Amino acid sequence: MRKYEFGNVFDKILKKEIACDFLKEQKYAVAFKDISPQAPEHVLVIPSGPYINYIDFFERASIEEVADLLDLLACVRKERFSDCAAISNQGKFGKQEVLHFHIHLIGGIKQKTPEIGDQFCEKKLIPYELSRNYFARSKKILSLEDFIILDGEYEQGLRVMCVLLSPARRTFFDWCASRDFEKINRMLRDMASKCGELNIEAGGSRLVIGGSTNFYDNKKRFCLKIFYNACVGNMLGRD
Ligand code: 5GP
Repeated sequence: MRKYEFGNVFDKILKKEIACDFLKEQKYAVAFKDISPQAPEHVLVIPSGPYINYIDFFERASIEEVADLLDLLACVRKERFSDCAAISNQGKFGKQEVLHFHIHLIGGIKQKTPEIGDQFCEKKLIPYELSRNYFARSKKILSLEDFIILDGEYEQGLRVMCVLLSPARRTFFDWCASRDFEKINRMLRDMASKCGELNIEAGGSRLVIGGSTNFYDNKKRFCLKIFYNACVGNMLGRD
């Protein structure tokens, strides 16, 4: 089914066959600047292993690889961004161009409010912030101690699978900073497994780990969102 094709641009970058502006190189992950930035700060974080997309990675990678990538992500985010969105495109609907798993860190855009969703949503089309209605309409598909997963339709066929973290943890990055990688890895594996059950990978999707919070049950909770089932447009607004 899935087959990683060696010789793609990021494979060449990892093998130092083409030049690139590296920011940090770790054992299992590297961070470098995007060649064509879509915002003042645009960094890519990738694993050095051959994984096609985030579902492939969270399903198959070892805990050491996952921990190294998340550690690098949290570190780059802390060093270079005050607030940013972390985005991973997958497949056709997600408009993934390079078939080596990568996470975009995008920030530095002048913000009207502290909420990252706003400046990315000038066209008001990409639902980075989900309304209460979404949560009322969606179905709980997994409930565990540290998180719950919901799935529902957002609008016009576009579906969103939401991983809501425990209220005790304000953001995904706070959780990464706690270095509780065993639990985080389990959560990401469960998330990838639900992607498999819902056959999300076949059409394509976008994983968004935004820089802001969402409302749920009158409490502020942070969540990871996976948009799928319809084209999600470009990263700065749906076209
Ligand atoms: P995707 O659409 O697959 O999520 O994003 C691929 C990203 O890789 C794009 O933002 C694109 O600008 C970036 N990219 C493509 N080729 C190169 C390259 O040779 N060097 C660097 N640094 N980035 C690249």
